Order: sequence, then structure tokens, then C-alpha cells
Amino acid sequence: MVLFQDGLSLPDRSLYLAEETKEIRDLYMEHIAKMFQLTGTDASLATQKAQRVLALETELATISMPMEEMLDPNNLYHMKSRGELQASIPVFNWDKYFDAIGAPAFDSLNVASSDFITAMGGVIQGTDLNAIKDYLKWKVITNSAQLLSDDLAFEDFNFFRKQLYGVETQTPRWRRVLSRTSNYLDDAIGQLYVEKYFSAEAKERMLSLVENLRMALGERIKNLDWMSDDTKAKAIHKLECINVKIGYPDKWTDYSSYEVTPESYFQNVRRAIQFENARDMALIGKPVDRDEWSLTPQTVNGRYTPAKNEILFPAALLQPPFFNTDADDAINYGAIGQAIGHEMIHGFDNSGRMFDEKGNLNNWWSEDDDAKFTERAKQLVKLFNEFELCGNPINGERTLDENIADLGGLNVAWDAYQMTDEAKAGKCIDGFTPAQRFFISYATVWRCNILDKALERQIKDDEDMHSPHEARANRALGSMTHFYEAFDIPEGSKMYIAPKERAAIW
Ligand SMILES: [Zn+2]
Repeated sequence: MVLFQDGLSLPDRSLYLAEETKEIRDLYMEHIAKMFQLTGTDASLATQKAQRVLALETELATISMPMEEMLDPNNLYHMKSRGELQASIPVFNWDKYFDAIGAPAFDSLNVASSDFITAMGGVIQGTDLNAIKDYLKWKVITNSAQLLSDDLAFEDFNFFRKQLYGVETQTPRWRRVLSRTSNYLDDAIGQLYVEKYFSAEAKERMLSLVENLRMALGERIKNLDWMSDDTKAKAIHKLECINVKIGYPDKWTDYSSYEVTPESYFQNVRRAIQFENARDMALIGKPVDRDEWSLTPQTVNGRYTPAKNEILFPAALLQPPFFNTDADDAINYGAIGQAIGHEMIHGFDNSGRMFDEKGNLNNWWSEDDDAKFTERAKQLVKLFNEFELCGNPINGERTLDENIADLGGLNVAWDAYQMTDEAKAGKCIDGFTPAQRFFISYATVWRCNILDKALERQIKDDEDMHSPHEARANRALGSMTHFYEAFDIPEGSKMYIAPKERAAIW
């Protein structure tokens, strides 16, 4: 059982607090008032309610831990007994709360956002009861908006997508419904997807790629010039213990107790949430289920879970541009190979490295190696802080884990590719050398269209800890010496970084 801070509606606390985001807050308040009106409140009362909601959310933002601090897992680990939790915030009746959400009996829990929970007591005490009621009504309205009539769904889009991110056109209703169905009936749709699009051959090739990457990373760790032998042995042990999941789960979810009817979309979603909640509650007090899947088979993504020391690649990732059974090795190593390396390196990024081979928060680093890692990570932070898109510098601290994973993943994939017969043969295809094809494939994965406003949001205050795609492609390559060699890049070129400035961690 874990308790996290929550309750904000805007994507980041800074949007409530920073001077330069006042315009967004004004638009947000208008939006809240409009939504209250659309659900039957008269105009002047709706404005008052909106003011009270914004004031309360601003208080919550003030006591929320900034994203950068949340990246350190030690800041999110505070085991407490139920009695200690209750004592830290006497104004809130936790027994009643846990009963209401259907939690079984338990003795202790991780109060991850410990300071927030304690400060919440003060916020509750200092807030008028009517304001708390307005706020709770608001959360029901805003969380349900996309399930209700077109006017509410549109107004919700208008603020959260158009005004915040610059999106001009609302996604058609059928697509929105489809993606929600895929979220809630994830395994049912996943099963259909896998039957149609995932072959045993793809799984086999993927498994052998993962083992090649694991071997290459092991070699890299052995050859690191900055790490002691003792810490290296522990890192390699952790690497060997990484559990690999590919394609789809062995056991599919049984939805027989979840009732779907043609009468009401809203009620179907509500029951789906109740079904999921019951499933989560049933996990409390049980041993960790290592067979559980944290991504659906139809998701184009990969994941490393530090608390399980596990990497997971859903079936949907195994298609172009990431994976192509007809393409040559350079293409696959530059794309899916890098993606596999990326997820493995997450076990050794700035936060992942604090977990041991079993997934426990347990420091296995010597003080000296820890200092050397931090020193190297700082260089990568600096390189990203200096990189601007649309006039906005990337936040190198916030995106550090992902940037470490990108750069490390690229290096590991490169090494693994060098072990293939194709790389050794060095044959050109379409006039491109193997090295050139490898890097072109890496860059191809990151092609995308993004609106300037969405880019600005992502860089400044989005929950997303990833650098924008353009930075992921260009900045990671800037620290790869092989990239300069492959394309004969001279000093002074746009992507050029002097050798001693380049980052090198894994
Ligand atoms: Zn990542």
C-alpha cells in the first residue's frame, strides 16, 4: 500500500505558483466556472466556486513535492504503521477512508509523500467546508467530462488540450471511446491484438536480441574505467537478474465479474474503475506478483520497473519503425536494440541504480563510485541544460534518468551490433555503411510532429520526464564518438560537442 500526493488538475504544480503562468490560471478558472455552469450551477455562483477550487488546488500545489525531488526514490519511501499515519494528520479519519475504498486489513504502508500528507492536515483545517465540497464536486465533474455529453467533453478538450497544448481539433468520439476501452478491457483487446499481430518468430528474435544486449552491457560494465571491481560485480549481478517479459502476459485477466451493458457509457466506465479498484485492493498484504504486466500488449512502449528489476516489451512495440523482421541488423539494433538497451540502463540510471537485484531500495554503491557516477551524470545534465528548442532550454535535472537511458542504450546497442556478422562484413546498402544505417535508424524512431505550444509545455512543466524527441535524437548522438566517425562530422558542425565535453556513463 502506497500513499502519494495528488489532487491537482493542471499538469504540474509550477503552473499554480509561477508568475509567468498567471494567464493559464485565469483560463483555468474560467474553465472551471464554465463546467459548473454546464452542470447546472448559475453563473455568479459558478465563478465563486471556481475561485474556491483554484485557491484550494493552489494550496495543494504549494505543499506538493516538486517533480525533480520525486526522482530520488529515497524521498518517496517512508514506511509507517497505520497509527503513525493517523497521528501525522489527526483531522482526517483514515480508518473510515480505508473502509470506504474497500481496503482489507493491513498494519503498515509506505507514506510516499509523507510531508504532503502531514501538511494536508493544515490545509483541511484551514479550508471552509463548502470549499472542500466544491472541490470534490469539481473533481467528479472534470474526471467525468469525457464520458458525458458533447458540450462538457468539448469544453474539457478546449481547456486541457487546446488552450494548454495548442491542439486544434478534438479527437473523434469513436477514437476516444476506443482508447478508453483499450485501457479498461486491456487484456481482452490485448488477446485479440496478439492473435492477429504477434508471431512466435517475433518473440524468438526479440529474446535473442535481449540476450545479446545483456551480454554487451555486461562487457561494457566490465570495461568501465571509473568503477571499482567490487561495484562492477554487483552491477553485473543486477544485470543478470533482470527479468524479461516480451509480448503478452502468460495469464489473462478474467473479466467475468465486470458487467458491460449497452445502456450507459458512463456507468460502464464507472464499473470498470470499480473492477480495477477491487483488483488493486485484493493485492494488499499479498506477496509481490512478479507475473503481473504493467503495460498492455497493444501499447507501443517499453518499461523498466525498478521495484521488480524487470524489463517489459509489449507486442505492439515489435513493429516498424522499432522492429522489422525484413530489415537488416543495423536497422533493428539502432531502433529496437537501443530501446532494449534504454530499458536495461534504467536499472542503472540516477534513480534505478538505488534499487538492488531484487528490486529493493538498497544501496549497493561504494561512496567513491557513487561520487564518480554523480560527477558524470552532472555532465549530461549540463549538456541538456544547454540544449534549446523553440527558445526553451531542456531541464537536464528532470530528464536525467531518461537521458542516461538513451545515451547508455545507444552505446550498448552499438556494441551489440558490432558482434553481428553483418557489422563485421561492413557491406553498404543503398550507399549507406552499417554504422550510418544504425544511426539513421535511431533517428528515424524519433520522427514526430509536435505543436510549439505542446513542446513548450513538455519542456517547462509537463509530468513527462522525457526530453522532447528532437533532443533525444540529437543530444544523445552528440556524445557518441562513433556517430562523428560514421558521418565524418567536423568540428563546428551544429551537433558537434568537443570530445572532453561529451558525456559517458555506461
Ligand atoms: Zn525510459
